[in-house]
Amino acid sequence: MSDEVNPFESLQEQIDDAAAYLEYPTDVLERLKHPERVLETSLSVEMDDGSIEVFTAFRSQFNGDRGPYKGGIRYHPQVSRDEVKALSGWMVYKCAAVGIPYGGGKGGIRLDPRRYSASEIERITRSFAKELRPFIGVDKDIPAPDVNTGQREMNWIKDTYEKLENTTEPGVITGKAPESGGSAGRVEATGRSVMLTTREAFDYLGKDIDGATVAVQGYGNAGSVAAKLIDDLGANIVAASDSSGAIHNPDGFDARAAKDHKRETGSLAGFEGATEEFSNEDLLTMDVDLLVPAALENAIDRSIAQNVEADVIVEAANGPLTPRADDVLTDRDVAVFPDILANAGGVTVSYFEWVQNRQRFYWSEERVNDELETIITNAFETLVDTYERTDAPNFRTAMYVVAIERVVDAAEEGGIWP
Ligand code: NAD
Repeated sequence: MSDEVNPFESLQEQIDDAAAYLEYPTDVLERLKHPERVLETSLSVEMDDGSIEVFTAFRSQFNGDRGPYKGGIRYHPQVSRDEVKALSGWMVYKCAAVGIPYGGGKGGIRLDPRRYSASEIERITRSFAKELRPFIGVDKDIPAPDVNTGQREMNWIKDTYEKLENTTEPGVITGKAPESGGSAGRVEATGRSVMLTTREAFDYLGKDIDGATVAVQGYGNAGSVAAKLIDDLGANIVAASDSSGAIHNPDGFDARAAKDHKRETGSLAGFEGATEEFSNEDLLTMDVDLLVPAALENAIDRSIAQNVEADVIVEAANGPLTPRADDVLTDRDVAVFPDILANAGGVTVSYFEWVQNRQRFYWSEERVNDELETIITNAFETLVDTYERTDAPNFRTAMYVVAIERVVDAAEEGGIWP
């Protein structure tokens, strides 16, 4: 899939790229390239057959200058210390890019969740929650869902935390089901910010979204909702993929029907609305107006980037381009709108959920979507102002300039202590 890029090194390189457009001494920036702390823990969990299995889990707290650490928990066989560190760093800059009052964190358990029963996943999740308990809290570190976790896991973590603390504190975690204190609009929030970024990007570039052709890599929470909402803008979804392969219909297909098919059958394979099956790499290099990578990091490396035919890329996944792919696409004038803006809807509505939990007052879905739209469109405006003001080579570097300035301002206001 990739040219073996370490995502933590990618993050550090992205900060260095932006540093060239900022006038900070190197020592100020050096502390923005490393996590403040990383918890690594081994979870011993009883399986359904009575045996014990040991799982490696992590939580990285990258930077707390702008507020409590915030970020998801991922269940995946590739979870590693460096991946979690990178993802926690991207959260810092994402929260700063859209101006919400959080630092960054991320966690994960190394496992393939498809190999375990629901009761085993519950025990694994509660075991992780017990280890996390001293480190998380409504004003300390607030986890959320990520790849292969959702409302179910968030509800278990909240419940474990509340029982151990003998309290009621729904704001300790976000992405919960509505009856456990979740927010309206949270499930669709990431896809919605991808759609809003796409809408603003096409407008800024003077391109018409109506009738534009779109390919979406990864048809999970982020990708399938983005596809559905971009479809609603009048665009034509012509290709999509998941881990089982890719589907294609040059005339476009109904993104909602594809989502329903995946929900019912577990994969996109066999979806009747698409006429051809083809490979994942074919999808990434298709001649489309918009490519939305919405699977995992490092999906597009240098060699794929050389063959990308899309005019615009809006990143739904975190870190889907390697730094070398970024260089190639910048040279080839492909407009890439970065993850730290495009997928920030998830953390933004998590922020709304946390605010609602603390107020014990819940908003309508309409209010959530309106407030999200204001935050993403304001952030987009700041991005293009900065892009034009700094002459940054691409939108990612410009977005990092905005985000780093905000983190450094907060750090300087607080001072370095001890
Ligand atoms: P998910 O598990 O719901 O979906 C992931 C999708 O990617 C699945 O359809 C899977 O089959 C597919 N996939 C995996 N490997 C693939 C490959 N090699 N080629 C094509 N498809 C592949 O996860 P998600 O929550 O949608 O997250 C996807 C990305 O979006 C991740 O990078 C995640 O960090 C990021 N993200 C998610 C949220 C959120 O709120 N869910 C928020 C911000 C960022």
